[in-house]
Amino acid sequence: MRERESSAPEDLLTLQAVVEFAGGWQLSGQQNTSMDLTERLYRLQNQLGVSALFTWGVIAENGTTHIAVVPGGWMEDQLEDPTTYLKLMAGISWLLAEAAKCPVTEYSYGEVIEKAEVVNDSVEVDYEYEYGIESPRFTGIFDLFSSMFSGSESTVVSPGDYYDYDFIHETNDTDFLNPDMYEDEEGSSLGPTSPLVLEEEGATTPATPEATGHQEPTTQEDLPQKSLRAACMDRLKSEMELGGEAMGALVAQRLDLEEAMRAVQALEHRLRNLTTSGPDSTDGALTPITLASLQKEHGFISWIPFLQRAFQIIDHELSEDTVILINQEYLRGLTLLVEEYSASTATMEVMRNYLTWRLVAQFYPSQSGYESRRGEQCLKQTEDVFGPVVTAMYVRHKTIEASKSLVEEVDMMVDTMKEAFSTTLQTLPWMSQDSRTAALHKLANMMDLIGYPEQVLNGTWLNAKYSEVEVTDDYLMNIVAFQSHQRKEGMKLFTRPYQRGSWAEMAHGGSIVTVNAFYSPNSNTMIVPIGMLQDPLYWNQPKSLTFGAFGIVVAHEITHAFDDSGINYSSDGQATQLYDEATIAAFHRQASCLATQYSGYSIAEAKVDGNLTLGENLADHGGLRMALAAYSRWRSDHIDYRLPALPFDDMQLFFIGYALPWCARHTKKHSQSQVENDEHAPERFRVLGPLSNSPEFSAAFHCPLGSTMNPAEKCSVW
Ligand SMILES: [Zn+2]
Repeated sequence: MRERESSAPEDLLTLQAVVEFAGGWQLSGQQNTSMDLTERLYRLQNQLGVSALFTWGVIAENGTTHIAVVPGGWMEDQLEDPTTYLKLMAGISWLLAEAAKCPVTEYSYGEVIEKAEVVNDSVEVDYEYEYGIESPRFTGIFDLFSSMFSGSESTVVSPGDYYDYDFIHETNDTDFLNPDMYEDEEGSSLGPTSPLVLEEEGATTPATPEATGHQEPTTQEDLPQKSLRAACMDRLKSEMELGGEAMGALVAQRLDLEEAMRAVQALEHRLRNLTTSGPDSTDGALTPITLASLQKEHGFISWIPFLQRAFQIIDHELSEDTVILINQEYLRGLTLLVEEYSASTATMEVMRNYLTWRLVAQFYPSQSGYESRRGEQCLKQTEDVFGPVVTAMYVRHKTIEASKSLVEEVDMMVDTMKEAFSTTLQTLPWMSQDSRTAALHKLANMMDLIGYPEQVLNGTWLNAKYSEVEVTDDYLMNIVAFQSHQRKEGMKLFTRPYQRGSWAEMAHGGSIVTVNAFYSPNSNTMIVPIGMLQDPLYWNQPKSLTFGAFGIVVAHEITHAFDDSGINYSSDGQATQLYDEATIAAFHRQASCLATQYSGYSIAEAKVDGNLTLGENLADHGGLRMALAAYSRWRSDHIDYRLPALPFDDMQLFFIGYALPWCARHTKKHSQSQVENDEHAPERFRVLGPLSNSPEFSAAFHCPLGSTMNPAEKCSVW
């Protein structure tokens, strides 16, 4: 993988073009003041997949799919470090302001240009482009966007139709763009006032092989544009290559950018303070409301056209009676906030800048500074975007037969784990009979998705799934194309009958190679992706290690169905109390022992929060208990292997297997942020906590009673 792409200025220009598509921003003098808030949000959310002010999407709740509007439009971790965040904001907006000075004609090459004329200081270009209906492949940014335009009321789109889009590129640097250039077709049209004319023509087109991937202009009008652009790119490139401090100094001179971004940051803080839950959270009470009432009560945008138009993309007619789930507390606050910001031109500008910043921030994630981690990011994004494809490759690499038999083996293991859980449920002293019945029913009704969906091995299905996603060597456009594809897939779920616990519901067919199992409370479904079926979680032999590591992960996920949040959902994922009041009280009494235990732990001078991590700690304890029971049962009619060079017996190996996956090393800063934000306890305590409560562990390793790992007082929930 090539580090440090020298095509970065190209990326900036593309981003700048996307920014303009989304309405522009005042930072580069190109804010489109005629585009209203609804249109801006429509483009951001529905065409670019960017959350701003709120997040909307299709979610499954109480056994059916709903459209939901939830808090969103800021990044928690960015707001936590406002100084660094502000630097990032100012730096990136400086780069974009610079990029805005270069003409954005990259995507207009070819016969699509009808005319281009200079009106005052702006170039008005009439773009005409084709809907990509006949061919699913697009040739550039505007083609791509056009394919995402839904047929608006009056436009019935059929193959071959054209859509006119007026794209006005206002330049804020008259020195830079000389109106005369359109009269001169010789390529030497830079006006005498342009600073670029001071350079030799040859110097403006450096030998960058990377640049050759771009389409050459085919019309006469493009020629002057091209040389201007090359020069501009060159300047941008050398500015970017200044890097670090030198660029920092340039940015620091632009106090106006810093001021503008400070105001954006303040707005993000206000948004965050509108809710007690985090962004994108569907937790807690979502209130049902019809689309028509949503419009009436929270009409800061035109919800009806906003959502109807979105669904037109998948040919679904959304009625005004459709019930939408909303976070009412948040939307109430948001309505007032938008009203407040709409009151003056100055605050309106802040809001528009905010909207555009969300777009930019999404494509320039905060980690972009860590060059060394770029490879890691690329892998992760490839996996996110092409989850099913990567899964298919993985399965084929292992061979389909091997994958199949592995999945079967794990299936059996999961059943063993469920049986162990069921036995435990039948003996828990703090549970009433009714609650026990409900819990057993929930366990029996739990769905599990193990391995991978069969479909990924079907090439036709896979090709159809990605047929709309244009993959080019343009990173930004790939992400945009994928996000709009994801949104469509999500919306399609809304129009189909809900299928609890199907792969489609769980992942939108998305990422399944991930080495991370999870449990979804509102569908009572457990997912164990194929990526988990390898060491250090899943070992061929000895089974002690596999039960200790992998077995516990599975049992951990099962236990989530019965942790402090799991007990708020029924056996088919409806939001209702699973237990009666007495059992709930007893459960919380038992659980509070764990909360106290973990609150006593600290790492890197930070105290673990026993309440924040309670659900996960409960699951770890339940997991250990069930996996132990399952392993004991398995051992009653099997003989396990041991590791010849090591003096450990079966039970000791089981506990070693348990601890092994949690080996980790972190910086102090990472540990501190983990303690603050992660609902999992730090790895060290995920080992020490459950094991010190386990009499079996103490027996296996002969820990004297009263020692650290064998305290006299132990917590026991399960
Ligand atoms: Zn968990």
